Amino acid sequence: MKFRFDESDEQFRQMIRQRIAQILPADISDRHRRVLSNSSYLEDQRRWFAILDAEGWSVPAWPVEFGGTDWTALQRFIFEDEMYAADAPEFHWIGSHMVGPVLYTFGSEAQRERFLPPIRNGQEVWAQGFSEPSAGSDLASLRTNARRDGDDYVVNGSKIWTSGAFEADWLFCLVKTDTQGKPQRGVSCLMIDLKSPGITVRQIRQINNEGHLCEVFLDDVRVPVENLVGEEGKGWTYAKFLLDHERTTSSFIFWIKRELTRARELGQAVFRNGRPLIEDPEWSRRLAVVGAEIEAHEWSVLRVLSEEPSNFPITAAASVLKVKGSELQQTITGLQVDALGTQSLRDYGDVRLDASTDPIWPDLYQGRTSRAMITRASTIYGGAQQIQKNLLAKLALGL
Ligand SMILES: Cc1cc2nc3c(=O)[nH]c(=O)nc-3n(C[C@H](O)[C@H](O)[C@H](O)COP(=O)(O)OP(=O)(O)OC[C@H]3O[C@@H](n4cnc5c(N)ncnc54)[C@H](O)[C@@H]3O)c2cc1C
Repeated sequence: MKFRFDESDEQFRQMIRQRIAQILPADISDRHRRVLSNSSYLEDQRRWFAILDAEGWSVPAWPVEFGGTDWTALQRFIFEDEMYAADAPEFHWIGSHMVGPVLYTFGSEAQRERFLPPIRNGQEVWAQGFSEPSAGSDLASLRTNARRDGDDYVVNGSKIWTSGAFEADWLFCLVKTDTQGKPQRGVSCLMIDLKSPGITVRQIRQINNEGHLCEVFLDDVRVPVENLVGEEGKGWTYAKFLLDHERTTSSFIFWIKRELTRARELGQAVFRNGRPLIEDPEWSRRLAVVGAEIEAHEWSVLRVLSEEPSNFPITAAASVLKVKGSELQQTITGLQVDALGTQSLRDYGDVRLDASTDPIWPDLYQGRTSRAMITRASTIYGGAQQIQKNLLAKLALGL
């Protein structure tokens, strides 16, 4: 492989950069730059994805026939890199990276027509209902069940840690339609309208004072049979497809690069003993070490995207990227908090506070602690660290 982008890639990058600068509303990027935590700024995301959809760029990884692009994996990488660098709102991952690909691969024609357009233009938001109180890493132990009754399924059970369910429209939900045989066998996948009677969503207060994660209780919820994805009992196959589909997403490379930039900016803005922190040998050494690790991480992502022949199994590579990406999220936000010292303890209360009302507190300082706290979860969600390492041991080392 070559360790540089070629000229056509660079031209593509320039084209994307210029167009984003033209179409991304300044008020959106300004707010997004100051997002304090996991708060999704739903209205901004809706506005931005409607704009991107009109451009034909809202779901670049989807096939062209479903509104995607014909870009190469490398071009999609460049596009996302530029989106983050421009402080554009992030994708609604669950809709664009999970539900969409499952529906255009396994869904019916009617389901594609009904559900893909509002995912593409950001008007319908999805939550992922997989985990349950007794089913996290061991997902096959899930207990939420769906019993067929005429043209409906009747669903009972509960989900937990459902990101964003309080503001989502739909739940992409794993249920048991059959309790006989191997646990994986009776799993099905239902699309559930979160406004259905019998659903209660309760927000969970997080360490950073947000309530992004939710519990979802389902009591005799009636779900039309046409909302079953693919075949009954094949939900496990679809869930695995979904997890395999985006091998590099959980590297969080763009997010981490953006936070590295923030850390550098902080190093210049924060003064200690009359000098910018960036001139402190110990702090700048730490910044350089994490910077080098992030660059190496980026090249690892690019190697996976370039699909260079390797003896290393591709699914194991996804685990490596997840493990390293999670750790780097924690390292880089920890460095930001260390830069601020005791100032990092300041609590804004309202995560959407407009910084311009508070002149003594620069935008740059906002939300660093909140981010650092919420990244503690990065080694849990999307497959916990120990599980990823078990996978690596099995797939890459044959243990
Ligand atoms: C911020 C956040 C967002 C999330 N969003 C969603 C969402 O939108 N939708 C959704 O469905 N879920 C979501 N989750 C849930 C997430 O998928 C689970 O938390 C995760 O799978 C771990 O499951 P658990 O919490 O039940 O922990 P457990 O599975 O009980 O694990 C507890 C600990 O034991 C370790 N462990 C478990 N089994 C083994 C083993 N066999 N070998 C070695 N160690 C093991 C784990 O690594 C972990 O350290 C989210 C979680 C977080 C933290």
